[in-house]
Amino acid sequence: MKDRKLLMIPGPVEFTPEVLRAMGMSTASHVAPNFVEVFGQALERLRQVFLCPGGQPFVAAGSGTLAMDTAAANLVEPGDRALVVNTGYFSNRFVAILERYGATVTQVSAPAIGDAPSLEEVEAALKAGDSSTGSGRGFRLMTITHVDTSTGVRTDVKGLAALGREYGVLVVVDGVCSVAGEEMRQEEWGIDLALTASQKAIGVPPGLALVVAGPRAMAAFQRRKTAVGSYYADWTYWLPIMEAYEARRPSYFGTPPVNLIWALDVSLGQILDEGMDARFARHRKLSEAIKAAIRALGLRQVPLSPDRAASTLTAAYYPEGVDRSLLGHISRAGVILAGGLHPAIKARYFRIGHMGAVSASDILCTVGAIERGLAEVGYEFEIGAGMAAAQAVLT
Ligand code: PMP
Repeated sequence: MKDRKLLMIPGPVEFTPEVLRAMGMSTASHVAPNFVEVFGQALERLRQVFLCPGGQPFVAAGSGTLAMDTAAANLVEPGDRALVVNTGYFSNRFVAILERYGATVTQVSAPAIGDAPSLEEVEAALKAGDSSTGSGRGFRLMTITHVDTSTGVRTDVKGLAALGREYGVLVVVDGVCSVAGEEMRQEEWGIDLALTASQKAIGVPPGLALVVAGPRAMAAFQRRKTAVGSYYADWTYWLPIMEAYEARRPSYFGTPPVNLIWALDVSLGQILDEGMDARFARHRKLSEAIKAAIRALGLRQVPLSPDRAASTLTAAYYPEGVDRSLLGHISRAGVILAGGLHPAIKARYFRIGHMGAVSASDILCTVGAIERGLAEVGYEFEIGAGMAAAQAVLT
């Protein structure tokens, strides 16, 4: 019998065999001509995947938190004001990072867990901080968590970014749980910096921090009066490196993670072969299927309304009388899911990741395992109800 479980957490996810093969190749020198070509091509492809033809990509060894750190380190100077649109755990992390670099942070928080601040509330905060109203210095930047992985809530990035532009603030989007899964059109929507990590919808094992900075963000960086507070994240060192690789010239500041970048290039090629619109649509459909199953099983979701719910993951409360031990049963049925993360409700819910190379059969396998787990813990429901609901969406 096969002893392999399906990994359906919100990152890391399942990766394609081609990506995994790239991880296992003999490691080349980071200045070898074949690697320089691959790195250069990966940078070009990142622009296409972020839908930001005029952006400057940065690839660094690190996780998504380094990408957040890089954004704050390079764009914030001590004394700057920042606005955080707060939808949960990862928005709180951005507050801490921005404060570490000397920003004074104002937050617009979701009125309840599972919700997101409205455009009107964010506009009111931007207005209050707008220098033209005479209330002091305006905000230098605004951060938005596209999908907060702790709640499964998706924000209206398009609407928020339009507001940011209107009020002249740099718009920074944490797309760790969205880029290459949720619709995000960086340039068209006026996003000045978008960031992600390799292990989610980008489809590469953990270890890469990915940032694409638009022209306004780069101009703000060039105008800095103070040195960047992080040595490793400083674009002063990395910009010439990214430019050199893209011009197919070998270069060195810190040794790049050769195999991960090889795998990144393979995955970006697969993403572009699928096509961004087709990829967004696949994520939407698979998400609808699993959410229909969750509803049919009588489980309540954390996002308060369907239009707030992400396509890359599903966050659902355990039914009455059921706790985290459910996840052990689901794992024995062959599928690994994640527990809760938001501190206020951590013990009461679980999360299913469905992004990247995820397929319809992964969704059915997951629903089947959830049904078996629920049956084993004594929850009363009609076996097959979730499967039928998912199949109805998929077929
Ligand atoms: N932001 C969001 C929305 C995330 O989901 C995560 C990771 N789950 C992070 C930031 C941090 O990324 P990492 O764990 O790779 O540092």
